[in-house]
Amino acid sequence: MPAKAVRKGGARSRAKSLKAYREKRRFEVTPEPTGDERSRTVRKKGPIFCVQKHLASHLHYDFRLEHAGVLLSWAVPKGPSLDPSVKRLAMMVEDHPLDYADFEGVIPEGYGAGIVMLWDTGTWKPSPGFEDVDRAMKKGELKLELDGSKLKGSWVLVRTGRGAERETSRSWLLIKHRDSGAAARDVTVTAPLSVKSQGDFVDILLADEPDLWRSNRPARGGESGRMLLEILEEAVRRKEKGSRSAARRGGKRTAKKPTKKRKKAAT
Ligand code: MN
Repeated sequence: MPAKAVRKGGARSRAKSLKAYREKRRFEVTPEPTGDERSRTVRKKGPIFCVQKHLASHLHYDFRLEHAGVLLSWAVPKGPSLDPSVKRLAMMVEDHPLDYADFEGVIPEGYGAGIVMLWDTGTWKPSPGFEDVDRAMKKGELKLELDGSKLKGSWVLVRTGRGAERETSRSWLLIKHRDSGAAARDVTVTAPLSVKSQGDFVDILLADEPDLWRSNRPARGGESGRMLLEILEEAVRRKEKGSRSAARRGGKRTAKKPTKKRKKAAT
């Protein structure tokens, strides 16, 4: 009986917690998961964590932890640092559905429009003494262990601010603890690629529908706009190069294998 009650409660709070996520999105134009489906995400040895590198209005890294049926989420502008002396700002954002944990692709328009790369994923667990994650979140300090491809070992998320301000603050810091997973190198530079497709932003764009996106991409300036423009230009170069070598091999320009996504988009 108690187990059933917990599950029911979990479902209620999950629906409520994904309200902000759903309100920001139009699912008829975005490939992102609605959170309605039963999770297809492969179950591993524990709760999932993921980091999605997201080129939107600004480049940032979305750090997500599976908890109570959703992904607790923070946007980390500079990305995680393996250096324990570096504190990285992590802005708490709305909970995301569990299915989002392996999402990679192009968001053509609307909220978060841009390119999402699955930069790291694995499992996580709260450190000893922090097993009550809800309590830790409320108190604003969560020590945790990550077992990913790029991020490993012990970390802490700590909310900033003083007194009453601290209780409502959405600003946290993500800090590495000193252990074998720590390093002085900048992991965002030394390991920039996807752990899902092994590609970069250009590859992700090419695997999607670059032509469609080029024609109605969001207008945007600044560094993110410049990066986006470079990625689009490189995508065009790689696409043309690919077509030329396919032609040399005697293939047709259209002899491109339809990807799963393409098939899906066509239906
Ligand atoms: Mn984001």
